[in-house]
Amino acid sequence: MKKFLMLAVLLGASACSGTGAADLVLLNGRFYTLDDENPWAEAVAIQDEKIIAVGSNGDVRGLAGSNARTIDLDGAFALPGFNDAHVHIDATGALLTGANLLDVHVPDAFTERIAAAASRLPEGSWITRGDWGAYELWAMGSAGTMDEEAPQERFKPHRDLIDDVTPNHPVLVNRHDGEVYLANGKALELADITSRTPSPRGGMIEKDASGRPTGILTGTAVNLVRRVIPELPFDTRLANFVAVLDEARTGGVTTIQDLTRAPQVQVYREVQRRGDLTCRIQLRPMLDMVEHIDALGISEGIGDDWIKFIGLKAWVDGIMGSSGAMFFEPYDHMPNNKGLVREIMKPEGRRGAALSMGVDDHYTDFPPGGFERLLEAAVPTGVPPHVHAIGTLGNRILLDVYEKVLKEHDMVDSDHRWRVIHAQVVHPSDMPRFGELNLVAEINPYHVTDDMRWMEERIGHDRSEWAYAFRDLKDAGAVLIFGTDSPGTNAARYYLSPVYSLYAAVTRQTLEGEPAEGWFPDQRLTIEEAIEAYTKAPAWAAFEEDIKGTLAPGMLADIAVFDTDLVDAGHNNPAGLLEANVLYTIAGGRVVYEGEQN
Ligand SMILES: [Zn+2]
Repeated sequence: MKKFLMLAVLLGASACSGTGAADLVLLNGRFYTLDDENPWAEAVAIQDEKIIAVGSNGDVRGLAGSNARTIDLDGAFALPGFNDAHVHIDATGALLTGANLLDVHVPDAFTERIAAAASRLPEGSWITRGDWGAYELWAMGSAGTMDEEAPQERFKPHRDLIDDVTPNHPVLVNRHDGEVYLANGKALELADITSRTPSPRGGMIEKDASGRPTGILTGTAVNLVRRVIPELPFDTRLANFVAVLDEARTGGVTTIQDLTRAPQVQVYREVQRRGDLTCRIQLRPMLDMVEHIDALGISEGIGDDWIKFIGLKAWVDGIMGSSGAMFFEPYDHMPNNKGLVREIMKPEGRRGAALSMGVDDHYTDFPPGGFERLLEAAVPTGVPPHVHAIGTLGNRILLDVYEKVLKEHDMVDSDHRWRVIHAQVVHPSDMPRFGELNLVAEINPYHVTDDMRWMEERIGHDRSEWAYAFRDLKDAGAVLIFGTDSPGTNAARYYLSPVYSLYAAVTRQTLEGEPAEGWFPDQRLTIEEAIEAYTKAPAWAAFEEDIKGTLAPGMLADIAVFDTDLVDAGHNNPAGLLEANVLYTIAGGRVVYEGEQN
């Protein structure tokens, strides 16, 4: 009835103007709307940026204005555009346009990739990052297969592999875990590192038998090169961002929640001014900027529907990939390591407080530290904290401080929408707190597919049971939202395509379908839950449920159309998700991508 009235009003309005109201009409689709009142529909009418009608072909056809574009979807599947809640746009762009070495751990491929990057980039520009060796341990049989042969020595490149192909491009690339760097001859020259340069305290300049630097740098020695790298030129940032937008469009992603530094914001604004912004960008500056944010009067939601401030980012602990996530007990493969405390947490209320905690302790038993003070400062701005916590101890500390600050301000049952980013390994005693404190869990399902091979080796079977426990988080009452964490290790396979995360969430398998029953299969999500966590829920988590995340009249016309019914595939043929292609991406009522029809 409501829908009928809505259409009647619109038809009345269009009759007055003498033409139909819609300028874009999509017919013959299978629209999965995520609107509880009207979950499936056949057609959608769009005027300017917004959806004006959702219904049957008959409901919608008559709304087309005289110059409207009508697209016959021929039965294709459509849903709200994907909202990727966790992207490092700058790093993703740098890998897209520069050297992506994630899956590289042999000399020939290393040389080839660096040479290719040099041929793409103007002379004189730096080739940085790279992230070589992310899959090396698996290739050596170390991951998840401990009983097989012990890992051999890891791949260590040499400047001689790349000096010939980079005479005019300084290079400073790093291993995936950031422990080892390689500089080429040009970079060493610019940094004035010669055979006579001693290794600085806390670092190493590796040299061969004759005393010549090999290019390998570790620790503080990396800073000798880093300090001569100029700030990335604006045009390079722009090119990197354009490459990310292209990835988003081709994947059906219409919103990205970024981890943002100031120079990036200028780039987003420039692309918006040019009219080329095809994906909405949401900004999350660092929590330690909170005083400035407060002083400038910046509050939650400032900006527009295309570029908007939505949160403040911080970190409690490190990551699993480099064994920096904090646990109550040491890592199985590193008996002296319980992870690390991130700088933004310091000073702690008591020196060493975090890493002294046992499973019965709470961080708030210690005097308040820097992190709690930053959260306190964020409360009056209304900008919600979005804080990274990965290990059991990291999550405990975050939940303790969140609980204390929320309670002190009587905010627990308010509409605060504070987030735990990753919530990767949560101690069972902390799980209920996600619901009790009304938290959002910003999770990365593809990490399961990538990490399951070495998780048990590093933290054992029992703790792995608590890892990526999406079902438990949801049952506890957390609002789940999905992000790729691009580039992450996934960038070896894909950057932003949402189908990988959907696949991972519903199968908990590798891309090859292992293990057959899924890794801790009780934690699988249904495809409906996964899609919601990638569309409707992240819109809600950014206070945008009134404009985004469902296909309904009045909502922004952000739509992805696939050649595969994702709901059906999720139930009956999850591997089919990985084959799904985007036919159309529509952002703000504009068709920003058209794929190949099969
Ligand atoms: Zn991240």
